[in-house]
Amino acid sequence: MTAELIDGKAIAKKVRAEVKERAAAFAETYGRQPGLEVVLVGEDPASQVYVRNKERASNKVGIRGAAHRLPADASEAAVLELVGKLNADDAVDGILVQLPLPDHIDPNAVVDQIDAAKDVDGLGAVNAGLLVLGRQGLRPCTPFGCMRMLEEIGCDPKGKRAVVVGRSNLVGKPIAHLLLQKHATVTVAHSRTQDLPGVVGQADIVVAAVGVQGLVKGDWIKPGAVVLDVGINRADDGKLYGDVDFEPAAERASHITPVPGGVGPMTIAMLLSNTVDAAYARAAG
Ligand code: NDP
Repeated sequence: MTAELIDGKAIAKKVRAEVKERAAAFAETYGRQPGLEVVLVGEDPASQVYVRNKERASNKVGIRGAAHRLPADASEAAVLELVGKLNADDAVDGILVQLPLPDHIDPNAVVDQIDAAKDVDGLGAVNAGLLVLGRQGLRPCTPFGCMRMLEEIGCDPKGKRAVVVGRSNLVGKPIAHLLLQKHATVTVAHSRTQDLPGVVGQADIVVAAVGVQGLVKGDWIKPGAVVLDVGINRADDGKLYGDVDFEPAAERASHITPVPGGVGPMTIAMLLSNTVDAAYARAAG
């Protein structure tokens, strides 16, 4: 392997240490800890693990974190009412509703109900709009984590060609806008893109956010490119794999994220960081 590994665990640890200091300084100044509330509807096992991890991670860095668990048959009105209560609670700086929600609940209605100033997942229409307009706002955690990784390895996107494979509202679109803001020349590829190998082959920065194991082949990668693999795919062998065919890609890339241990650990770290940002922004009025 010739590429340098981008160590998401180490970068996430650094972010969490920064958050801990800022959370302590916030508590000192304002006499209360920043607060993050997570709402979980239903018993999806993966979501339960995520929510527990978020609760634990918050408490470790001095963020007062609490989870609200509603039954799977909770009505949309009940979820909206809970979000409304959390919006009105001045001690709450961040609200996150764990997705996916049960089918009978419209996720857009719920996410848009979250006060934009507390939307620490950055997925509501207001924060998405602010991102597209290049204005200050809360950024979606995984894409924001990818940008932090680029910064940590000293990769300035300015003037570089970036190709984002995937156009979801959660990952692909926001990271494309974040890269654009940093002056990259951005192409967004998706399932209808023609000649994906040729498109990816032009990229100095490749972001793969597809959800198809090993879709991006090693010989597509331009020598020296930086490769961020957002994909998390559990294979039949029980292990996790990314969207990039790791070994051959690592022969050509200059830097590459492993899966697991790459982009994954950044998401919760950036959520905590967003919570402290939201706390300061709200306190400043
Ligand atoms: P979505 O399913 O919402 O989006 C997938 C995107 O990939 C779509 O835009 C789709 O195109 C595109 N796509 C699908 N097949 C192909 C193909 N053959 N060629 C090119 N493009 C294709 O997924 P998410 O964005 O939510 O997640 C992507 C991956 O990232 C998943 O593995 C997910 O688990 C992981 N993830 C990891 C996180 C982390 O913390 N590290 C956080 C969030 C997600 P189209 O729009 O045309 O259908």
